[in-house]
Amino acid sequence: MKYKSYSLHNYRQIPQIEKLSEDQKLTIETVGNVLPFRVSNYVVEELIDWDNFENDPFFILTFPQKGMLSSYRFDKVANLLKKEAPRSELVKTINKIRLDLNPNPAGQEMNVPIFEGRRLNGIQHKYRETMLFFPTQGQTCHAYCTFCFRWPQFALNDFRFAMKEVELMIRYLKLKPEITDVLFTGGDPAVMKTRFFEHYFNALLEADIPHLKNIRIGTKALTYWPYRFTSDDDADDLMRLFEKVKNKGINIALMAHLNHPGEIEIKAAQDAIKRLQNAGVQIRSQSPILKNINNSSAIWAENWEKQVSLGIIPYYMFIARNTGAQNYFAVTLEQAWRIYRNAYKQVSGISRTVRGPSMSTSPGKIQILGISEIMGEKVFVLTFLQGRNPNWVGRPFYAVYDEDALWLDDLFPAFEKEEFFFEESSQIFNFQNQLL
Ligand SMILES: *Cc1c(COP(=O)(O)O)cnc(C)c1O
Ligand code: SF4
Repeated sequence: MKYKSYSLHNYRQIPQIEKLSEDQKLTIETVGNVLPFRVSNYVVEELIDWDNFENDPFFILTFPQKGMLSSYRFDKVANLLKKEAPRSELVKTINKIRLDLNPNPAGQEMNVPIFEGRRLNGIQHKYRETMLFFPTQGQTCHAYCTFCFRWPQFALNDFRFAMKEVELMIRYLKLKPEITDVLFTGGDPAVMKTRFFEHYFNALLEADIPHLKNIRIGTKALTYWPYRFTSDDDADDLMRLFEKVKNKGINIALMAHLNHPGEIEIKAAQDAIKRLQNAGVQIRSQSPILKNINNSSAIWAENWEKQVSLGIIPYYMFIARNTGAQNYFAVTLEQAWRIYRNAYKQVSGISRTVRGPSMSTSPGKIQILGISEIMGEKVFVLTFLQGRNPNWVGRPFYAVYDEDALWLDDLFPAFEKEEFFFEESSQIFNFQNQLL
C-alpha cells in the first residue's frame, strides 16, 4: 500500500466518502475546522467498515463527529461556513472556540524544565524517573484521533512542544541520575524517518549514560501505518537501530496506543508486531476508555487477551482528559471503574499487568481503586500511580462519591476535609525546582 493521507481539503477524494450524505460531509467540515482532522488510507481501507460507518469505532475515532462541539458552537461555525464569511471572521471564531476547549490540560507547561538559563521546550520532566522528549520531526500523526489531548499542537502552533537539540537533552540527562527512562513522544515519533531516529538514538548511545535503562517510543503507527515497521523504505534500518540499542543493554519499548481489538486483527499490524519483537522490542499498550469506541468490559477483556496472545503487555487504561471533544467521549469515573473491574476479573493474571482507570492530572496519574463506604460516607478510593511528588505514589485517599464525576476537578475531599492531602501547602513540591 502506498501511503496517502487525507485532511479537510482533500477528504472528498476518498472513494468511500460517497456513502456519506451531503449533510454528513458538512458536519465533518464544520467540526474539522475547529478540531484537527487527518486520516491515512490504511485507516480508511483496512480499519473502517464502510457498510456501517456511522457506528464504526474507527470512523468515530478519526472523522469529526457532530457531538464533538456543543450545538451552539457547531451552529456558529456551520453558519459562518454556509454564508461564506470572510476568512478572518472564521479564524477568529474558531480560535475562540479552541481556547475554550482547555487546550493545555494538566498544566503541561509546568513540566518543562528550565536548564542552563533556558526553557527546554522539547522536554517534559514531571515524574522523577521518566523524561518525555518531543523530537521536532515527530510532532504529527498518520491520522489524528478525535479524542486526542494533543490536538492543540496540531491545530494551535503556540502549544507545540518540540526540540531538535539533542546535545542539550543529553546534558540535562547526564545531570539527572534519577532518570532511567526517556520516552519519545509527540505527535507520533514513528512518523519520523529512520535517519532522525538514528540522530537521536546514536547520540544517546554515544553519550554512554549509565542510568539510562529504557528508551520508549509512544506511537499509534503500529495500527495506523504498520508498514512503518515492515515495508517502508527505511523500515529495515529502523529494526537494525532498535537491535543496536538492545545490544547496548538498553531496553527498548514501544508504547502502543491500542483503542480497540479490531486494530490488531489486521495482518499488516500483526506482521509489524512480530517484526518488532524479533528485533528485541518490547510492546506495551495503553488507551483511554471512550464512549462510542470502547466503553464496554467485553471490548477491554478481548483487547487485553488478544494483545497478550500477540506478546503485547497491557499497561494503562486512562480516563479521557478534560480537553477538546471530552464531552463526546466522556465516561463517568464510576462507569470507567466498573468497566475496568468487569474486564479485569474475566481475564487471567497474565493480562492483569494493566493499571487503571487512571486520570493524568496536574498532580499526577490518579487511579480509581473503587467505591466504598467508610464511617457511613460513600467515597471514591483513589491513589497515585505517578506523582509530581514521588512520595504521593501508592498512598490511598478519599473523595466524596459523585455518580456524575468525570475528572478530578469534579471531586471533593471526603470526611469534610478542606483539601486533598496533596493540596496541603507542605506538599507543594516540584522536584525539578529542587534539583536544579
Ligand atoms: C504518563 C507519563 C509518563 C510516563 O509514566 P510511566 O508511569 O512511567 O509510564 C511520563 N511523563 C508524563 C508527563 C506522563 O504523563
Ligand atoms: S496517534 Fe496518539 S498523538 Fe496522534 S492523534 Fe492519536 S492519540 Fe493523539
